[in-house]
Amino acid sequence: MDLYEYQAKDLFAAHGVPVLPGHTVTTPADAAKAAADIGGVVVVKAQVKTGGRGKAGGVKLAETPEEAGEKARAILGMDIKGHTVHRVLVTQASDIEEEYYFSFLLDRSNRTFLAMASAEGGMEIEQLAVERPEALAKVPVDPIAGVDKAKAASIVNMARIPAEVADEAAEVIVQLWETFVGEDATLVEVNPLIRNPGKRIIALDGKVTLDDNADFRHPSHTALVDQRAENPLEAKAKAKGLNYVKLDGGQVGIIGNGAGLVMSTLDVVAYAGQRYGGVKPANFLDIGGGASAQVMADGLDVILGDPDVRSVFVNVFGGITACDEVADGVVEALRILGDAATKPLVVRLDGNNVEEGRRILNEANHPLVTQVDTMDNAADKAAELAAVSLLGA
Ligand code: GDP
Ligand code: MN
Repeated sequence: MDLYEYQAKDLFAAHGVPVLPGHTVTTPADAAKAAADIGGVVVVKAQVKTGGRGKAGGVKLAETPEEAGEKARAILGMDIKGHTVHRVLVTQASDIEEEYYFSFLLDRSNRTFLAMASAEGGMEIEQLAVERPEALAKVPVDPIAGVDKAKAASIVNMARIPAEVADEAAEVIVQLWETFVGEDATLVEVNPLIRNPGKRIIALDGKVTLDDNADFRHPSHTALVDQRAENPLEAKAKAKGLNYVKLDGGQVGIIGNGAGLVMSTLDVVAYAGQRYGGVKPANFLDIGGGASAQVMADGLDVILGDPDVRSVFVNVFGGITACDEVADGVVEALRILGDAATKPLVVRLDGNNVEEGRRILNEANHPLVTQVDTMDNAADKAAELAAVSLLGA
């Protein structure tokens, strides 16, 4: 999960990284109030999850509370690279003597962490990386050894950050490392990390990506989720503990047990869909090994709630959970959903106790359910039903 600047800076502050005080607001009037509260010159900053806000006009200085209100009025509602600005951060401004660049990130290809730092930060960092890569120090960080003061000092040195602030910069880098590790981030970036006229090092901007796989270790991170930005179906699936990913441009809802089976189901449906005008899978949903009726009902509920879905393919290979239990689950799920279930379901069962599973579905004889015995034929049927429904639309 990517964080907003104000959230990133809250985490920085919690780990001792120097940031300037600020308030996040949604109206010009509150921006003026925030500026009055902070006192002096402030910066009004668009809170969107994309870079280049400065160049897009989303970062503006304001000398007075009235001016802060005006700047907020101009920035709120602005579109920055497809992101609408709903909030601005009003924060104390600082004079800038120098701008540095700093980041920690997960270097997947080298299976380690990486520190990147430069004494030449600011808005042109991408250009710098391309045109003068030697000005951007890239220092591998051993995840076990981590970053202590000595390691931080060597990074500062390689980045050619001036000696007079080297010690303080190294301290801030250790605190950024503590943020990175302590919050289970895959990215912590500060651009610019500034030196102010008083020779203090301050993080003026912040970008943090948290590792969702570590969410269970951080109950407090739940509060950082932006409800407005989240896909409502994905949010609903998450709330029910389902492993669901919405896929754009698809029409066939997919439910399977086991990530590998679901992934191959996506391929088979996309392939079959070519015979029906390019019908595609609409989602990934793995209901896992112990697929109870309730899990099946929750899964169907999410998928049927997707207006793009025209047909559903339930593809189950019975293992620890046998086919008869899955069949009971489908029947029970349709009973729970009642009139909410409105789209045709193609069910393919195979594996443990398959005969009993098929018998249960035949006996239930639900008008929406078609049983098909092989994966390829079932994919073809699901694609055909979606195509027919699209024709009728
Ligand atoms: P970004 O463009 O999305 O990366 O947003 P930043 O937060 O980095 O702000 C863009 C630029 O605005 C920075 O590189 C600074 O040059 C400038 N800026 C931001 N805050 C201040 C401030 O407090 N004082 C001054 N003088 N400039 C600022
Ligand atoms: Mn920046």
